[in-house]
Amino acid sequence: MTTIQCHELHQQLLRLRDQLKALLRNSAERVQPVDLDKPIGRLSRMDEMQQQSMAKANRRAIEQRVVQIEAALLRISRAEYGVCVACEEEIGPGRLKARPEAPFCLNCQAEREASR
Ligand SMILES: [Zn+2]
Repeated sequence: MTTIQCHELHQQLLRLRDQLKALLRNSAERVQPVDLDKPIGRLSRMDEMQQQSMAKANRRAIEQRVVQIEAALLRISRAEYGVCVACEEEIGPGRLKARPEAPFCLNCQAEREASR
C-alpha cells in the first residue's frame, strides 16, 4: 500500500468514526426502556418493544464497528495497517476501500464466519 492510499484510508476511518459516533448520540434517547404504564394498545406496545430491540441490535452493531475503527486507527499509528491480523497477508485494496476497518483478509474473515 502506498503512503497516499494509507493517508486516504486514515481520513476515511476518521470520518466514519465521527459519523457513527454522531449516529450513536442521536439514537441514544430511542433505546429508553418501554414505559409499560403508557396507555397504548397491546399491539402497538409489542410493536414498540420490537422496534426498540431492533434499535438496540443496531446500536450494538454500530458500537462494534466503532471499536474496529479505533483498532484500525491504532494499527495505522503502529504502521501495521493493511495487513491481516491473523495471517499477516496484505488485505486487498478493494476490501479496504469498502471496509477500511477490516482487521482480516477475505480468507480469514470467511474462516471466522464459518467457525461461528
Ligand atoms: Zn488473513
